[in-house]
Amino acid sequence: MPDSASLLGLPRGELENWFTSRGEAAFRARQLMRWLYHRGELEPLRMTDMALSLRESLSDSAGLVLPPIVQRRRSADGTRKWLLDVGGGQVVETVFIPEPGRGSLCVSSQVGCAVNCPFCATGQMGFSRNLSAAEIVAQTLVARRELEPEGRTITNIVFMGMGEPLANFREVARAASVFLDHLGLGLSRRRVTLSTSGITPRIGKLAEVSRVALAVSLHAPDDELRNRLVPLNRRYPLGPLLEACWDYARATESREITFEYVMLDGVNDQPGQAAALVGLLRGRPAKLNLIPYNPVCGTPFACSPRPAIDRFRQTLLDAGVMTMTRKTRGDDIEVACGQLRGTVLNGMSVPRGMRARA
Ligand code: SAH
Ligand code: SF4
Repeated sequence: MPDSASLLGLPRGELENWFTSRGEAAFRARQLMRWLYHRGELEPLRMTDMALSLRESLSDSAGLVLPPIVQRRRSADGTRKWLLDVGGGQVVETVFIPEPGRGSLCVSSQVGCAVNCPFCATGQMGFSRNLSAAEIVAQTLVARRELEPEGRTITNIVFMGMGEPLANFREVARAASVFLDHLGLGLSRRRVTLSTSGITPRIGKLAEVSRVALAVSLHAPDDELRNRLVPLNRRYPLGPLLEACWDYARATESREITFEYVMLDGVNDQPGQAAALVGLLRGRPAKLNLIPYNPVCGTPFACSPRPAIDRFRQTLLDAGVMTMTRKTRGDDIEVACGQLRGTVLNGMSVPRGMRARA
């Protein structure tokens, strides 16, 4: 098996190699993908269009298992959250956000995160490990199974759960390939969004292997502040980061790059900072997404008051920068991205908020 413990999450080409290296026809990869992603069937013995001997060998070696659900939460606004056991006493979260005419699934790419943004609960956890493509894709299959009885479907996938996706490049790229493949989840590239804190050289690399929509966590209009809010900025400062974004938009023929900007009271929400952002984004293929901050215990940050957010947005709109304020969802179950902080409960790592309310 090519560097992977599971056939789940492997791009079509790698899966074809797996079969041919075992003397099987390459088209078996397509058959397997249809079973896994179109029918949601993970038991090889039930894949009836394959010879019994092949089904038995897949059953022994393909590693087609989904992580168990540790906890399910449902918010008053319909947002759903699942905590999945990824072994070793660790859990990751997957969140489904229903909206009229669409449903977005927010997947995790790592257990914890090493970037260590001081306002983010995942960052406070530190980094444990990368998720495999199988574990990333499995999140979508678990959610789909859970949502099916309610007639809800996943129309969009966003890499905005725990972790920095570009720090786990290979596995995230594999998973994205399955999301886009018509034999996989068959989503159009505009419906799969990767959010990064800005590992600049990997943005160019991403354009070479995938054409997913790109979102970049900006959070500050200058290097001095961004060095504090997104410590990775010391290594990958704003100027080259933005250049890489414009290159990405060109190379992938994307209409725009989304910039995320979490609104922190008195820190990055001042009129001068809005004006500085205009200078960075005006006339560029850019869309700005203002995110009301979800306070994280133990950090000194608070969310900007609504009038400050509205003023900030208006300054950008007046200057012709496409800007929207993200609606907060699932507040009551603490689903907002970055709200996870693992603590150990009976040997199981569980986010703080969930422990308190479980
Ligand atoms: N690591 C990636 C993707 C996951 S976080 C990244 O940073 O882009 C998704 C978004 O949620 C990021 O823009 C992140 O900065 C933001 N975020 C983190 N903690 C938050 C919080 N407590 N409230 C609101 N947004 C938060
Ligand atoms: Fe990591 Fe993103 Fe949180 Fe920063 S905001 S610590 S990059 S998950």
